[in-house]
Amino acid sequence: MVWIAAALIVLFIQPAYRRLKAKGYPARIAFKIIIFICTICLGIGIVEPAAVYLAVFFSLSFLLMSVIVRPREGAPGDAIFQITFACPACRESITFDFDREGFAELCPKCGEIVRVPKKTSDVDSASGRQ
Ligand SMILES: [Zn+2]
Repeated sequence: MVWIAAALIVLFIQPAYRRLKAKGYPARIAFKIIIFICTICLGIGIVEPAAVYLAVFFSLSFLLMSVIVRPREGAPGDAIFQITFACPACRESITFDFDREGFAELCPKCGEIVRVPKKTSDVDSASGRQ
């Protein structure tokens, strides 16, 4: 039961984190807090099963909150989860999801194998400005 709950929590928190970050919130801090609360609840859940439901409830409300909140002014949007660079072979501008960074991918324009470069800008420090 605890493991199913833990899987559910990961399932809820991951998209919530991504959404909060895209909306310009300090998602990393919120992420740490919710992970902390859920870990405690899951720990208690070993002796008191009701706490497991509480942990799932917290992570689900975290997800709902991330959907409901309005984007902050100057929010980076989903673009922060994409890496755009010029293909070394054909010089066309190509875009990949950020989780592909460092991986070899096929260029959608010319079909050449390219390595997706690392993203250089730090998102959390950029989101602090007004
Ligand atoms: Zn190319």
